[in-house]
Formats: sequence, C-alpha cells, structure tokens
Amino acid sequence: MASDDSRTGEIPTLDLQRRVFVAIAEDALRRDLVGRFERCGYAVRAEATIDQLHEQVLAWRPELLVLGETYPRGSGRQAMLKLRSSGATFSVPVVAALEDVSVPNILRWLRVGVVEVWRLPWSRDPAPRVKTLLDECTETLVQTAGPRTRLLAFARRSGLEGTVVIYPDTPFEARASFVAGELRDARFGPLEGVPAVDQMLELDDAPVRWVDGTSTEPLARALPRPGGRTTVLGVEDEASVRELVSRRLATAGYQVTSAADGVEGLQKALAKSFDLIVVDLGLPRLDGWGLLRQLREDVVARESAVLVLSAHDDEVDTLKAARAGARAYLKKSGRAKELLSAAALLSGPRVATWSSLEACRETKVELRAVGPVWLLRALAELDCAGRLELEDALGRYEVTVAKGQFLEAVAQTGSLRVTGPVAVEAIVSSRGEGRFVFAEVKVSPAAPWLYDVVDVVCDGLRKDHARLLARALQDPGRLYFNEELAQLFARLATPGELKVLEGVRQAPTSFDALAAGVALEADDVTSALAELLRRGVLSVEP
Ligand code: CA
Repeated sequence: MASDDSRTGEIPTLDLQRRVFVAIAEDALRRDLVGRFERCGYAVRAEATIDQLHEQVLAWRPELLVLGETYPRGSGRQAMLKLRSSGATFSVPVVAALEDVSVPNILRWLRVGVVEVWRLPWSRDPAPRVKTLLDECTETLVQTAGPRTRLLAFARRSGLEGTVVIYPDTPFEARASFVAGELRDARFGPLEGVPAVDQMLELDDAPVRWVDGTSTEPLARALPRPGGRTTVLGVEDEASVRELVSRRLATAGYQVTSAADGVEGLQKALAKSFDLIVVDLGLPRLDGWGLLRQLREDVVARESAVLVLSAHDDEVDTLKAARAGARAYLKKSGRAKELLSAAALLSGPRVATWSSLEACRETKVELRAVGPVWLLRALAELDCAGRLELEDALGRYEVTVAKGQFLEAVAQTGSLRVTGPVAVEAIVSSRGEGRFVFAEVKVSPAAPWLYDVVDVVCDGLRKDHARLLARALQDPGRLYFNEELAQLFARLATPGELKVLEGVRQAPTSFDALAAGVALEADDVTSALAELLRRGVLSVEP
C-alpha cells in the first residue's frame, strides 16, 4: 500500500479504516453526528457518558474523538485534561462540539488541548472538514503542539476574521488580529507577534473579548473622568517617588493614601477598600509580589485594581505582574501622563457604573470589572431602589434593595436555592454579570441596612475562608464535592483549577502529594483550592 500512496489516497473507502469516537450526552445530537460520520464511511463508536472514556480510547484507538461540554457525571474539559495527562492518550486529536462557540469559549477549550471546535447542531456535511482535519493531524501532529499552534491552525481552518482582546479596557490590553484566518498582528505589553500570542494564552482567567475587524486602536474609548470619589493607595518605600506619585494623582482629583512598605500597605488595603492600589515591586518587609498575592486572597481587597510600579522596564516582570493579578505595569521614571491614563482606565468601569446608578438608569454590571462588594456598597450609598439581577456559570442571583436597606436576596446555584445573607455570600464570591433595574420597592422598617449586611458577610467570609482553607491545605484528601457545582464550574474553570479538582478526587494523602500529583506550584494549588472552596464546589464539611 505504501508504494501506491498517491492513488489509494483518492479512494474514499480508505476512510472506512478511520475511526471516530463520538462522546456526546444528548441523544439527538449524538445520533445525528454518528449518522453523518457513518454516511461518509467512517467507523464510528458512540457513547453518551465519559465514565469509561480513558479506557475506551485506549482500547479502540480512535483517530478522532468528539467531546461535548457536559455529561451526567463530569465535564468535557475535565475529561480532556485527563486524556492529555496520560502518554497513551495524549496525542488523540479531540474536537469539542459545543453550543457556545464564542471566541472566549473556544480559547478555553484550546487551552485544555482540543484541535477544533464545532457548533452543534451541525447543519453542514462534515465529510470534507473532517478529512482535512484528520489529514492535518496525521501530517503535522498539530494536536500534540502547544495552544498557540493549535489556535493558529484552528484560525486558518475556520478562516477566523476579527480580533481577540484580553484584559480589554486596561493598560494590559493584549490583542491578536486575524484576517482570513491568518494572524495579522499581535501585541501584548512589550511583546509582538507569536510570543505575544503565547503569553495571551497563558492568562487562564483573564477576561476575553472578541471584536469584529482588526483595528489596532486600544479598545478603551473616551477616558471617563475619575471624579473625587476614586480612592488610591500608593505603596512605595522611596519617599521622593511616593510623594511624586501621590501629588500627581491628587492633582488629577484622586483621593490618595500612602504606605511606606508592604506590611503597612497590606494593613491599609485590608482596613478600607480602595479603587486602585499602586504597588512598587521592591518593598521592605513584604515585597510587591507578596503583597499582590495577599491582596488576591482577601475577599474585598481582591476587587481593587492593581498598578505595578517598577524600577525596570522588564518584559518578564510585566507578564509576571499580569499573571499575579495586576492590571498595569509602569516604569517609575515614566511620565505623569502614563500614570494618569492607566489610573483613569482602571477606575473607568466603577466611575461609569456609579454615574449610571446615580442617574437612576438601568445599569449593566460586570462583577469582574467593578467587584461585587463595591457594587453592593454603591447601591447602599446611592440609596438605589430596585433589583440587582446577576448570572454566572454556577447560577442566578437576585438582590432587592431600597433606600439603603437590604430587603431580599436569592441565589440559585445548581439545584440549591438559598436566601438572605447566605445568598449575598454567593454574590460576593461570583464574577458574573447582569444589571440593576430601578423599581418601586416597598421599604420595610425592620429591614437591615444593606451596608451592614455586606460588612457582616465579608467579615464572615474572611474568617470562614481562612479557617476552611487552612483545613483544606492540611488534609486535601478529605474534602467533600458538590458534584453538581463541580460540573457547572468545570465549564469555565482554568486548567489549573480543573487539575486541582481532579487531584482532590484522587484523595491525596497530603498537600505536597496533591501539588506533586497535579504538577503545579504550591501557590497555584492554594489559590485554586481557595476558589473551589469559595464557590462551594469543595467543602470541608458535608
Ligand atoms: Ca522600592
């Protein structure tokens, strides 16, 4: 056969030997896809669950595997990571068949290792596309390459047209533009081209936006005026730089507080919430990186936007800062204009949300951009009356408020419905989006103040979270799963969070065993565990 390749390659019956494994939970979609593959001459095996997927793939050795988003037990992305973690199944090309084929969701799947994303239900004949994909996988082994190679190949195959923007509306804004499927331009901080795309794909939990067209203009439109409400904490040990930064920001209308080292900075950031925190990297007692890490662990402080100040213009540090949760990186020697435009950009979402609420207009809200605690406090301070309606991967949330009073809250995550302050806890842990609708609401004299409810919830979360995290770190093998939330969460989780979730399932004997099993840094394992506990996916008690 090898001597006759050029001719036999033309004979369609050769495809008979090509094995396609279809693992799709929904009966109608699975049957439809199986029928289409069979009519094209492929050998097809189909399953509605992924319980035995790893063993089945090992035994049957398909040339292509089609995975869906959710199953009765488990999620497609989790199954994908499991296949990728084993040498024997690592190189099986996998296609994700999804309802949500938005670019952010496509990136989520490319990050865990798929080569292609299809939208289901499928309206077109799959044969030509499948053949092209199978040939490409056989010839270039694209399925075994890194996420950038898979993204560029996917873009080419699907003729991608438009721009991926990561961290939109921040000074860290990164973008990659595609024209007719080819990468036209990519920028991220000091990086350009392919290295920029590599770094963009490493930012697992960064907000992503897809824009039609290939404009290289920054997305951030007119800069909103900061106004006198925007508070800034500047943490810097060199007195001259500290005063210069404070003066520049104060002159522009910000309310500035200063701290001279990392410990003082942390104390101030925990005592009062700031809109922006300007952090020098080289600080005594607790350095900038340590401070960033501690800020991220706190339920309120993690909502503040962080600008990193550095003595160097270092591209490694810029990208490290982005991964550590900072949203801008500025040189100390930089001009006032850069500092002020970064500050205006980062305070923009809160300024815009505040002025819309102040004008009693129905307001679209993004918790990731403004922070849930900040939003609830803003509703209290502005005496807004109406309903806050939010949604995220785990469920739906609603809070009714009037004249600074807390009237009612409901959180529905999976099949669990909670009300009152417990529902507020769920909102504070969420990063979803929604809107505030102004409405006539009857005020009850007995209703507590919203501001107090938020404070009590945050204090409780701080205490509980520290205690629960300590116990989880001590004995990660004895955590309880909420299977329903685990499945919902897995749709959006970062690869690190998915690995930790799977690692905990293996009942590790210690934290070190867990970290070794998932092959992640201890800090990354800790923050993934913290997030899983916060969202109720894992718990210390049943
Ligand atoms: Ca310093």
